[in-house]
Amino acid sequence: MQISAQKVVSIHYTLTDNDGNVLDTSSNGEPLNYIQGVGALIAGMEEGLEGKLKGDKLQLKIAPEKGYGIHQPEMIQQVPLSAFGGQMVSPGMQFEAGTEEQRFIVTVTDVNDEFATIDGNHPLAGVELNFDVEVLEVREASEEELDHGHVHGPGAHHH
Ligand code: ZN
Repeated sequence: MQISAQKVVSIHYTLTDNDGNVLDTSSNGEPLNYIQGVGALIAGMEEGLEGKLKGDKLQLKIAPEKGYGIHQPEMIQQVPLSAFGGQMVSPGMQFEAGTEEQRFIVTVTDVNDEFATIDGNHPLAGVELNFDVEVLEVREASEEELDHGHVHGPGAHHH
């Protein structure tokens, strides 16, 4: 069975940057289970996996535009410390921001006496991604899984 829209796909993956640093991997734990075509994965992954079969191993080089987006300088802002309501703020802290429809994570990158610098870019924005992927399983999704937009069963959602 080929990977195509609405198939449940199980993969192991390792993500490295262009210097060979491992940024993320599933190889120490459960495989990643997702439904192809519902936007669960970044576009470059879904495009690269389309048409692949169980047992296939592939390398994908994904540009930021098909990954976590380009780095947008306007997403970096200075916020007065008073806006944090007395909470201690230090570099590396993350907060949720945005509207109800679109939540995103901002990371504090710098703090001085008056201001915190926050960055709303995804930590991997602007980064070219190198994925090593192995396709472990391809199966039909159940009605319920398609309804929910995620995979049920071992290594996935239980409810
Ligand atoms: Zn569900």
